[in-house]
Amino acid sequence: MAAQETVEHKYVYDFAEGNKDLKDLLGGKGANLAEMTNLGLPVPPGFTITTEACKAYLTTGREPDGLAGQIEAHLESLEREMGRRLGDPDDPLLVSVRSGAKFSMPGMMETVLNVGLNDRSVVGLSNQAGGNDRFAWDSYRRLIQMFGKTVCEVPGEEFEHALDEAKRAKGTQNDLDLDADDLRGLVDAYKQIFAKHTGREFPQEPREQLDLAIRAVFDSWNAERAILYRRQERIPADLGTAVNVVSMVFGNLGPDSGTGVAFTRDPGSGAQGIYGDYLANAQGEDVVAGIRNTVPLQELERLDKTSYDQLLGIMARLEEHYKDLCDIEFTIERGKLWMLQTRVGKRTAAAAFVIAGQLVDEGLIDLDEALHRVNGAQLAQLMFPRFQLDHEFQPVAKGIGASPGAASGRVVFTSARAVELAAEGEAVILVRRETNPDDLNGMIAARGILTSRGGKTSHAAVVARGMGKTCVSGADELEVNVPAKTFTVGGHTVGEGDVVSIDGTTGKVYLGEVPVMPSEVVQYFEGELDPETTDDPLVRAVHRIMTHADAARRLRVRTNADTGADAARARRFGAEGIGLCRTEHMFLGDRRELVERLILASGEREREDALAALLPLQRTDFVEIFREMDGLPVTVRLIDPPLHEFLPPLEQLAVNVAVAQERGEDVAKEEALLSAVRRMHEENPMLGLRGVRLGLVIPGLFAMQVRAIAEAAVAVVRDGGRACPEIMVPLVGAVQELETVRAEAEKIIAEVVGDSGVEVLIGTMIEVPRAALTAGQIAEAAEFFSFGTNDLTQMGWGFSRDDVEGAFFWRYLELGIFGISPFESIDTDGVGRLVRIAAEEGRAARPGLKLGVCGEHGGDPESVHFFHSVGLDYVSCSPFRVPVARLEAGRAAISTTGSDSR
Ligand code: ADP
Ligand code: MG
Ligand code: MG
Repeated sequence: MAAQETVEHKYVYDFAEGNKDLKDLLGGKGANLAEMTNLGLPVPPGFTITTEACKAYLTTGREPDGLAGQIEAHLESLEREMGRRLGDPDDPLLVSVRSGAKFSMPGMMETVLNVGLNDRSVVGLSNQAGGNDRFAWDSYRRLIQMFGKTVCEVPGEEFEHALDEAKRAKGTQNDLDLDADDLRGLVDAYKQIFAKHTGREFPQEPREQLDLAIRAVFDSWNAERAILYRRQERIPADLGTAVNVVSMVFGNLGPDSGTGVAFTRDPGSGAQGIYGDYLANAQGEDVVAGIRNTVPLQELERLDKTSYDQLLGIMARLEEHYKDLCDIEFTIERGKLWMLQTRVGKRTAAAAFVIAGQLVDEGLIDLDEALHRVNGAQLAQLMFPRFQLDHEFQPVAKGIGASPGAASGRVVFTSARAVELAAEGEAVILVRRETNPDDLNGMIAARGILTSRGGKTSHAAVVARGMGKTCVSGADELEVNVPAKTFTVGGHTVGEGDVVSIDGTTGKVYLGEVPVMPSEVVQYFEGELDPETTDDPLVRAVHRIMTHADAARRLRVRTNADTGADAARARRFGAEGIGLCRTEHMFLGDRRELVERLILASGEREREDALAALLPLQRTDFVEIFREMDGLPVTVRLIDPPLHEFLPPLEQLAVNVAVAQERGEDVAKEEALLSAVRRMHEENPMLGLRGVRLGLVIPGLFAMQVRAIAEAAVAVVRDGGRACPEIMVPLVGAVQELETVRAEAEKIIAEVVGDSGVEVLIGTMIEVPRAALTAGQIAEAAEFFSFGTNDLTQMGWGFSRDDVEGAFFWRYLELGIFGISPFESIDTDGVGRLVRIAAEEGRAARPGLKLGVCGEHGGDPESVHFFHSVGLDYVSCSPFRVPVARLEAGRAAISTTGSDSR
């Protein structure tokens, strides 16, 4: 027998071996470094350790076999290429160790620069740099700081205090004023801090530094804030991160060096033209951390025209290549430009639409691709209201509009306080000098984020944009004093609890609460802004992409509307019918009294009188809705909630009776109501006498509603209008229930409709699991099904929404039992399977059966894709969600017709 040869798994890839499509394996950063390398762009040489190595390490707790040897081999070839050895005392090669997962997780993972420096190689580095001691010691102190903080969990503030202390001793605020001796002293101080916290000396062996840093990157995948970020962004927990080992280039070698970040278009508005920040004589992390104030990238043209022109050329090339907005990180080392990172850049919702439109104009992508690149969540964001500003409101400061929206709320200065107040239902604005990854909880809890430092690429800006949260960054007129819990601006002092308003589009900050107005996108949907003549690029782009989505989609979009006014607005937003008209409200207000009469009726006579009084009122409501919808289908749900919901609560009635008795008043009616409420009490109202069960138990109730609907339709048609009613029976679980209702309804309809030409469909909701499982039978008696996915979710899982969301959903989300609440996005495996079964078996029994959904899931982007895939005819959602559903239905249609044909 031939000996089995073990093929070693490949865990390490040279930059020249990868490409941009290997994100799963190499992470986003590694894949794109490889892509740039292969494009011939100036990328410092290096290699990537795969996500598979990370996953193996995380599951077994040790580096997989073969990894160490492969790292050794790639390091050796890197050393050969660079002509230097890692940490060589005379002429050291230094590297950075950088995390990089498939999806970018800003600030979540760890990076260590200058690996390979120690007490001896620091001298070699200085020699390499022509005797630049200051630079060498600055690099060394950065290594100890980053290594200590990220690899060994030494509290970062300790290093910052020591740095502040050194600057204070020197009488300066600027770290550039520290000379070589100061920095050497700082290295000693840092080493002591390191030893105090770790119980060991700072490791001098370069290879040990490298191995520990790689391991720390692996471990950081499971750091608490990384887990939190993934949950927030719905990034799967099992992807792992890659590790990039990159030979160092130095932006801190003097005034002819520097580092920067840039976007190929404005990521806030989408406007054409490069956009970025530059910082001379600095290493990369200084820019992202917003530590020193950067200058606009355009300044680089003056500082170093050759590098600037080269950079512009590279950025144009990257856009052409990626066919999208790219963001980049670069460093200039003594006039030589190096590319350190690129990716398809994050952008605001508005920029996503505007850029997609521009790229179509520029011929880089087609309209399908443009539609593919925007999404319903972004559109929903653009429909947020904006500040209504008149003379009264003068901004007190202007920062950078880092993430759009209008937010007012009470000022808080710490993440913990933000979480506390938000839990009490307060809107809060988190105010910081600059946020850091530890502020994530507070950022999630806040309405908006306001910082006094940092640019469009600072932590606060990037994370807020990702969350779709309003953010103003770098409002440098603000003096933020976190310990005192105040900030001052233009002579005002603002304390914790005071209200401020921030505009994430303009970057303006206002004291007090500013009223809001509809966004321009809503004005467009309302028909108040003409997309053909407006000079608003966003409205033009939205119009163009929506038009394409409407042409592409197969799903119709209806709305849930109970009144003529709601119906009218939904039609302006593009609704093609009403998928759910609830009739409950027609029993409320001053009609409550009639319902009480109905419930208390002691005989047939009284009951019939009460119903007869309700009939014309309901008819009027239906007439209004049918007129508004002008021939579009209107699905009316017969009364669904238990009748006791229309009566006052037990306690209140008991008090009323007692008070009336005290006063010697007549209590007969109150007592009758009280005993009715007692009689009708249910332990589980959700599973009690409601829906079709009411119709079968209370004679004449459904008949009255059916008559009102039919008469209203006839009245509208006789008036020259059009009406297309669909009567929907709720909570059916057995075909016999529906047959009974249907038989009675058909008689009434035939009698009312006569020769008017009105056609009335009769169908049912599918919201009880038994209905889904017997859909084949039920379809015999139904002309349409409408999935009530709220109830189907409750009954499918066996929990009631009101009880569970606060009680244990957080735990289920934490444990990953749900990726997202099943009330937000349909649970495709379980509840979705019921939908699929019912759709298939219903259609098999009755070809042409109309299928729709009327739960809140109808307006949820992911659910819309699912409903498209199971072949429903329409989704129905609240009026404001109608544009979102239209867009997503269009996206679902193009993604199934194969976007890889491009
Ligand atoms: P992040 O994902 O947080 O941006 P990075 O791995 O990109 O982290 O690194 C942080 C900073 O360090 C970046 O600004 C980057 O430009 C800089 N940097 C990383 N590697 C090198 C290197 N080899 N030489 C010089 N600067 C580097
Ligand atoms: Mg980076
Ligand atoms: Mg229901």
